[in-house]
Parts: sequence; structure tokens; C-alpha cells
Amino acid sequence: MLSFERISDHEQVVFCNDEDTGLKAIIAIHNTTLGPALGGCRMRPYVTVDDALEDVLRLSKGMTYKCAAADVDFGGGKAVIIGDPEQDRSPELFRAFGQFVESLNGRFYTGTDMGTTPDDFVHARKETHCIVGVPEAYGGSGDSSVPTSLGVIYGLKATNKMLFGSDSLFGKRYAIQGLGKVGYKVAETLLEEGAELYVSDINHEALLNISSRAEQLSGSVKIVSGDDIYSTDADIFVPCALGGIINDQTINRFKCRAIVGSANNQLLDLKHAELLKNRGILYGPDYIVNSGGLIQVADELYGPNKERVLRGTKAIYETLTEIYLQSNIQGISTEAAANDFCESRIESRKKRNSFFSHKKRLKWEVRC
Ligand code: NAD
Repeated sequence: MLSFERISDHEQVVFCNDEDTGLKAIIAIHNTTLGPALGGCRMRPYVTVDDALEDVLRLSKGMTYKCAAADVDFGGGKAVIIGDPEQDRSPELFRAFGQFVESLNGRFYTGTDMGTTPDDFVHARKETHCIVGVPEAYGGSGDSSVPTSLGVIYGLKATNKMLFGSDSLFGKRYAIQGLGKVGYKVAETLLEEGAELYVSDINHEALLNISSRAEQLSGSVKIVSGDDIYSTDADIFVPCALGGIINDQTINRFKCRAIVGSANNQLLDLKHAELLKNRGILYGPDYIVNSGGLIQVADELYGPNKERVLRGTKAIYETLTEIYLQSNIQGISTEAAANDFCESRIESRKKRNSFFSHKKRLKWEVRC
């Protein structure tokens, strides 16, 4: 049931319906204190509208925190299209979606997410300029998994510094779950640095590829099957596949000293962050560690610039270090420390924004 209570956390929720193309979408704008809302557009065959609404509300709120942590001038938003990406996608559908985005007059920027591709947004961009992450051939900034994997590497360095006193990646053991776009690049970098890897993937080819890559580089690879990836004797577990993998079933299996990876929503529940802390396992909050891709698409606002993206991505090291320190000082989980960090950043900007608006109003009043 839709009620204002249900969306009271959010600034604006827009239901989009286009009969000609069959588009049924929801755009949720959570918070625009830091700037216009930014968030990908997911396409899924949601069983009910309620499921779609639940998803878009949760994801848009998450984007507010992610944007705050990455220090980009955007707030949190997200869109979902209700439909089967295999059957229902069409250029016309994405153009219709682009028209709805345009109707928000710059309050919401979007691009690809699960079930949509950068090419879909080439069509959407014919109707609105509020699109990020289109292919490089169309002026976009390119494959976001490149800065995302680099961000994971900076997250691992910050974690090593905290645990071992040196941020060197050399000689440590890492267990990587998922060798897709992000995980494979992380694995390659770690191998170049002489690390020992445990790897798992349901895709056999990815395992073969990384094994033969290891032969050319200085590190080593051991293939682990299925759930055994949770209980290796690696120093750091690096989840780069599924969400919800830190849960009641896995929490006592971890023998690692830390968990730092790109997978979204790694904690099944906030209580698992507390349980990790009690077990002495350092957790790098996923939305900070995996923010390299966001930093890249947010940067498109100023025109693609790899140097600036690199600088922003490197800052993940400092942000994560700060979160680890605050978690230690306050005796709270790293996830709670990260949330506090983001909320106070938003709060301080709110004060600054209201100060500027106040000054603008004063000027206007003087002119009148
Ligand atoms: P991907 O689809 O390219 O790779 C995922 C890999 O995980 C695949 O190789 C797949 O075979 C493997 N996998 C799936 N189930 C598995 C299982 N049970 N055990 C082991 N491996 C399994 O995705 P990606 O772009 O590399 O993203 C990885 C994770 O990082 C996802 O959770 C994604 O949401 C998150 N993330 C990605 C980006 C990005 O820029 N690509 C940005 C932020 C967050």
C-alpha cells in the first residue's frame, strides 16, 4: 500500500506510465542536499509494483550515503523499470523513460544498473541530458569496473595498513569470490604485486583465465570450490560477486582478518556488522570500497577526465582509514561509523546550503 508514511524518508517518488511503449517505471529521489539525485536504472520483472517500490526506495537511500561517502556533488536517487530485460527492452521504451527523467528538470541523473546496458541510455539521452555512463563513443567515461576495481585495491591497501602497519599488497593471502569485471581486475593487480590468491567463480572459464594469468605474473592462485571460499586461511576475504554473503550461515566460517570487496549489500543485516566486530574481523563498508564507478560517472558532469577520477578513487584510502579509526575510537561497527560519517557530512552541507540560500535571499530582499 502506498502511503506518505512509507515514503516519508524520500523527497519525491514518481510513477511513470507510457502505454505506447509499455514503460512502467518508478523514480525515487531520496535526498538532494548534496546536489541533484544520482542513481542507476534497474530493469527487473518485479512480481508486484510493491516489490519494485520497496527496491527503489531502499536503493535510492543507499545512493545518498554512497554519494556522501564519495564526496561527489550529487544526492541519492534510483529508478526501476518493471519488465523483463530479455523481452521488454526497446529503444522506444528507453526514450520514453528519458522523457520522464527530463520532466524532473535536472533533479535526477541516471544510467545503467542491473538489467540495463550503457547502450540503452544512448536512446534515453536523445530525450534528456541527465544521463551518465554512456559508452565512450558517445562521450561517456567508459567501463566503470576499471575505477571500481582500483577503489577495491585502495580499500585493501588501507586495510593492510590498519592490520599490518604497511599498505603493501605483497605476500598477503586474499580469497576472491567472483572473477567478473571487477574481481578479475582486482585479482590481476594482486598477482602483479606478488600476492597469494584463493579464487572461486561459477564460471569455469574465468578460473582458467586467472590461473594462466598467474603463470605470467609473480603471485599464485588456488581454486576453491563453492562455499569453501568463506573459510580459507586468507588474510582478507574479497567478495566481488553476490550480496548478502555476510549472514548467519557464513559469519562463523570466516577465518580472515578482514572483509573488503566490491559486491553490493554484503551484509545481510546491520547486526552482522556488529557480529564481525565482535569476532575481530575488520569490515570495509561496501558502499565506500566500491564507489570508484560512482566517482567516475559523477565526474562526467564536468566532462570526462581520468586524472580527476583517479584522484577521487585514491581518496577511498583516506575515507576508509577514517572510518576504521572512528569505529575504533567510538567502539562501534565500521558500518555504523560509515553511516555516521555520511550523515554528518550531509548535515554540515545542509548548514552551508542554508547559509548560502539565506545570503541569496538577503541580497534579493535588499534589491527589492
Ligand atoms: P560481473 O557480473 O561482471 O561478475 C560477477 C562474477 O561473479 C561473475 O564472474 C560470476 O560468474 C561470479 N559469480 C556469480 N555467482 C557466484 C558464486 N556463487 N560464487 C562465485 N562467483 C560467482 O559483476 P561485476 O561488475 O564484476 O560486479 C561484481 C560485484 O560488484 C557486484 O555485486 C556488483 O553489484 C558490484 N559492483 C560493481 C561495480 C562495477 O563498476 N562493475 C560497481 C559497484 C559495485
